[in-house]
Amino acid sequence: MSRRLVLATGNPHKVAELAALVRAAGLPLAVCSARSLGPAPEVVEDQGSFEAHARLKALEIARWLRGRGEPGDTLVLADDSGICVDALDGAPGVDSAYFAGPESDDAANNARLVAELAARGLTSSPAHYVCLLALTRVDGKPLPAAPEGLRLFTGRWDGEVRASPRGSGGFGYDPYFWPAGSARSSAELPPAEKNAQSHRGRATALLLAALPAVLAGEDGSSAGS
Ligand code: IMP
Repeated sequence: MSRRLVLATGNPHKVAELAALVRAAGLPLAVCSARSLGPAPEVVEDQGSFEAHARLKALEIARWLRGRGEPGDTLVLADDSGICVDALDGAPGVDSAYFAGPESDDAANNARLVAELAARGLTSSPAHYVCLLALTRVDGKPLPAAPEGLRLFTGRWDGEVRASPRGSGGFGYDPYFWPAGSARSSAELPPAEKNAQSHRGRATALLLAALPAVLAGEDGSSAGS
């Protein structure tokens, strides 16, 4: 059986996307979600930073898997992402998914974004998306370039938010986000084009570049990254 890469996310799109990328890279890893293995713990995201949330989720899922007798070399990956708007002092940030309240959806979050801009007399503001990925082993042993056993990969996508949406692709805030220098909103970019430049795409590219050394490190071969 291949070594597992267990994702802390329950989002099936993220799992399928990463599984396809890992396969395309020829890496001997079986990608699955923690939830597919059992009643994985829901981690409360109240730490105030993308990095802290990604770390916490990776460590919590690793601890849960350890308790279930999962092999120590199984890898765990957690992610956290969101959008930070300059005119809103970085909001919604880590609260991006719940900007309009605990039960909010994309439409409600976007309506709040537009309302917050309007309240400041603005129709646009510089903004950026952030994605943090945290990788750890179930046994917490060191990883290449991460002697403490947890490795972070960060992606950032700069641009601006505008009050008038365009496009129907992507999700979340995409119809309101224009990548720097782009005539199209991020909801107007074909998925491959979005992935090639997005916060998540960049963080994932760093992860994929690091995974061969992580796998080689296990064999005792030189494992720099
Ligand atoms: P999560 O990290 O998948 O939970 O995403 C947090 C929230 O940030 C999402 O619910 C979206 O509102 C927002 N977000 C993160 N990445 C994107 C993106 O690529 N496009 C649009 N919205 C995003």
